[in-house]
Amino acid sequence: MKLSELLPIAELQDLCEQFTALTGAVTAILDLEGNILIATGWQDICTRFHRVNPGTASRCRESDTVLATRLEQGEPYNVYKCRNGLVDVAVPIVFMGEHVGNFFTGQFLTSQPDAEAFQAQARQFGFPEEEYLGALSRVPVFSDEKVRLIMGFFTRLTNLIGEMGVARMKEEAAKKELQASRQLLQTIIDTVPIRIFWKDRSLRYLGCNPLFSRDAGYSSPEEMIGKDDYQMAWAAQAELYRTDDRAVMETGRPKLFFDEQVQSREGRLMWVRTSKIPLKNESSEVIGVLGIYEDVTDRKTAEQMLVEKNDELQRSNLDLEQFAYVSSHDLQTPLRNIVLFAQMLERRYKGALDSEADEFIRFIVDAGKQMSSLISDILEYSRVASRKEALVCIPAADAVATAMDNLALEIAETHAVVTIAELPQVLAESSLMTSLFQNLISNAIKYRAADRLPEISVRAERMAPDRVLFTLADNGIGIDPVYHDKIFEIFQRLNPSSDTEGTGIGLTLCRRIVHRFGGDIWLESTPGSGTTFFFSLRTCP
Ligand code: ADP
Repeated sequence: MKLSELLPIAELQDLCEQFTALTGAVTAILDLEGNILIATGWQDICTRFHRVNPGTASRCRESDTVLATRLEQGEPYNVYKCRNGLVDVAVPIVFMGEHVGNFFTGQFLTSQPDAEAFQAQARQFGFPEEEYLGALSRVPVFSDEKVRLIMGFFTRLTNLIGEMGVARMKEEAAKKELQASRQLLQTIIDTVPIRIFWKDRSLRYLGCNPLFSRDAGYSSPEEMIGKDDYQMAWAAQAELYRTDDRAVMETGRPKLFFDEQVQSREGRLMWVRTSKIPLKNESSEVIGVLGIYEDVTDRKTAEQMLVEKNDELQRSNLDLEQFAYVSSHDLQTPLRNIVLFAQMLERRYKGALDSEADEFIRFIVDAGKQMSSLISDILEYSRVASRKEALVCIPAADAVATAMDNLALEIAETHAVVTIAELPQVLAESSLMTSLFQNLISNAIKYRAADRLPEISVRAERMAPDRVLFTLADNGIGIDPVYHDKIFEIFQRLNPSSDTEGTGIGLTLCRRIVHRFGGDIWLESTPGSGTTFFFSLRTCP
């Protein structure tokens, strides 16, 4: 900043003029570029003689230079007898340690002038003697004591000027900072993609951002100031909003993220998510209310559509399950007859027809049986969905025991060793729980390795205060990790052409049962070494 902008020039000029009138000493303030900011009472002897004549003027310039250079070298002040015989004083003006200008006084004498010397000077430079001596007589003579006083006065004055300049600089900087932060805040309010408004205690608008004023039917936030909700596009709902505003101001507590409907200026009903916060001053007194909201109409419509689609999906799922159940159920009887009569054909006419016919009949019986187990698995699967019995607390060990009984033949035939650890009580349904274990143990036996006897272990451990983790591990053929998710899908079998019988529904059923119990099922496996199934269930309360 320039020195001229930092100093109150007009006031200082007045002050210096008064000083000159009182003392007769001249004053001047110059910046470092040599611009004269203030000048008072220059002596005729200088302005009309010394600074005009080239000979004496060069002495003046020499004096000015010496004075200024000494100050540049850091002297606190400088008293200098100029080469034309007068005394000059200069004091540096310093702002925050930086030398920014100089204060000059002088053009006085410290003792009665040597008239002969000045007469000689008049002759040397061709000044009219009488006028020159007249000007000399108007030059004030100050005693040493007075010079000291003047020096003291000026040193203090320049200190004061320095302080004033610093204060002004700080004020300017603070003003700029305030302006910048106001500007930033304004930019944020104007560009943020939400509506913002604030009202005073009588619920008149104090301000808002452009998005808000547009909703309200005005072209700029300025037009909103001083107006209330009765003058907005949503005048019909004004009372509703004002009741909310009052509640927030009275309780001093914010009301956050609530959905409400507003009418836009085009008459469109839109959903908005609003928050209202009490506006407080530095003493924490509520002086109004601050509100923000965003248009969530699209989100709301999408949510609504999702709920409808979900209902639709649930209905169609239910229909489908019903269809699967009814059709499987109705298919069972004719199928049973087909198998029955094919078996009768086999028994009565085996050997009576040719060997190819015997083979065809075998195919019919086998395919019929396979279809029958498929149908009963589908039935079982759709039963889980339609079952709505409440979950009860049952001992998991009982379900495993029943499953083992049902699988006794397979266990005996394959010499499978099943180890069962202590198992807890869980929230489940008895027959489904049996079905779950039966499917998993049956798979562990079915998919055993050819070169070793099946070993199966069943364990459980607590994984959270209200959850247990069951582990069912086997030493069978294992499952490639790429199929770990796929095998839970309906009708998915990894080796359908192999000898092992199956429908590809077992694990889908297991997952459905576990989900119905509020748990989850997954597996880990090393192909060739074995598979471990994990499922979590809820403990009894
Ligand atoms: P299914 O046994 O009737 O074929 P599942 O749904 O019970 O149908 O199993 C799907 C597929 O997952 C099986 O065909 C089999 O390839 C694989 N599988 C299931 N359990 C095991 C296991 N314990 N070890 C190896 N593979 C398994």
